Amino acid sequence: MSDSTLRIGLVLPDVMGTYGDGGNALVLRQRARMRDIDAEIIPITLDDEVPDSLDIYTLGGAEDYAQRLATRHLSRYPGLQRAATAGRPVLAICAAIQVLGHWYETSAGERVDGISLFDLTTAPQQTRSIGELVTDPVLPGLTQPLSGFENHRGGSTLGADAAPLGRVRHGVGNGVGDGTEGVVAGSVIGTYLHGPALARNPELADLLLARAIGADSLAPLDLPEVDRLRSERLAAARR
Ligand code: GLN
Repeated sequence: MSDSTLRIGLVLPDVMGTYGDGGNALVLRQRARMRDIDAEIIPITLDDEVPDSLDIYTLGGAEDYAQRLATRHLSRYPGLQRAATAGRPVLAICAAIQVLGHWYETSAGERVDGISLFDLTTAPQQTRSIGELVTDPVLPGLTQPLSGFENHRGGSTLGADAAPLGRVRHGVGNGVGDGTEGVVAGSVIGTYLHGPALARNPELADLLLARAIGADSLAPLDLPEVDRLRSERLAAARR
């Protein structure tokens, strides 16, 4: 690995890997390499301290208990907090939104303190939200609908210092009745979209990649098969 290699942190795939969100790191690496940017994935497990020196970080969803193990580890080794404060891009999926908030309550009613990178709190809702989720992004730089699959019981309430990532067109999203989906705080982006989210939303992948390499934007890649899958999935969500 040379000094110019883009280092993608895959945070706690051993406990936050339940829903295949590790694919987000694969997509970032692939889209970097297709542009002749050297890129490597650095898995950070429960056996590792969390480094603050990587170029970009991704965290996936998990069940309540796995999510608790991750919360404890991230509190004990606050490298992710330092990286986020330094402006490194971070993508947090589903349970990771909850872990990165002030606190979340598990389905069993237990309240767990998070690491407060997001000004939000999460509590279990009456029913589990499962199904296709489509939103209109409100984050500047994104122009196309975001799509993915949601599967969560927790509903997240955003505080004054948290902006939504999108507005729900189809599905549930943050799940507290305000029509919001996901969360943005500085360089940290959270979403309930599984898929993996970056496989289904190349524009979001390239926005993160551009930020990680310090570019204003990246020229789109010509991948007709990805475009076709996107339009099929958006059509399926409309049915
Ligand atoms: N355990 C959390 C919930 O049910 C997150 C689930 C997930 O990451 N898909 O809300």
